[in-house]
Amino acid sequence: MKKKGLLIVVSGFAGTGKGTVMKGLLAKYSEQYALSVSMTTRAPRPMERNGVEYFFADKETFEAKIAQDGFVEYACYCDNYYGTPKDYVEEQLNAGKDVLLEIEIQGALQVKEKLPETVLVFIMPPSVSELYGRLKGRGTETDEVIRQRMLRASEESQGIEQYDYILVNDDIDTCVESLHQMIQSEKQRAFRNTEFIECIRKEFVDLRKGEI
Ligand code: 5GP
Repeated sequence: MKKKGLLIVVSGFAGTGKGTVMKGLLAKYSEQYALSVSMTTRAPRPMERNGVEYFFADKETFEAKIAQDGFVEYACYCDNYYGTPKDYVEEQLNAGKDVLLEIEIQGALQVKEKLPETVLVFIMPPSVSELYGRLKGRGTETDEVIRQRMLRASEESQGIEQYDYILVNDDIDTCVESLHQMIQSEKQRAFRNTEFIECIRKEFVDLRKGEI
């Protein structure tokens, strides 16, 4: 049986470039990773496609899925629901893929509580002024939405110590590589490899019994 994949939660303030980091990781190591596509009630931005960036849904559809226990986690962020559909995540983990969830902090903490073996990574901007500049420069949000998101970022900064790792996104390629290396190391931790350790122990036992 294939070893189950690792669940990795990646968070970061709006505008940190975490989406670009995710894309870079998936492009470079497509065999290893699967990215979960969330469901949201927020309106699509220009160029966003249903089923690619998000599954766009109305509030009723989202709440029906909550009632069916269809999410690994969900949260309300800036007046909209966002949630991780369960089926895809379970299917990909069982297929041995390392699954990435790009979600905000409330959801991240829910996942850690339900599935404590999950690794939580927070991607930081080099500075707050740089972050503000990137959000303005993206040009996809109104000044009011940017203001809301900066306020939210300031609140979220209170919870970063609850993550396992932080990475600074100064340069995309460096950040992608650091994230990949961090995941590789995490997968080598002894407590994540108990089946293999058991297998080696059993071989020793068989050897002593003269069965090898
Ligand atoms: P945006 O509207 O900019 O695409 O996303 C807003 C925030 O929601 C980001 O921090 C993003 O990571 C987070 N987010 C996206 N999908 C999910 C999800 O399924 N669950 C949770 N809890 N947050 C999500």
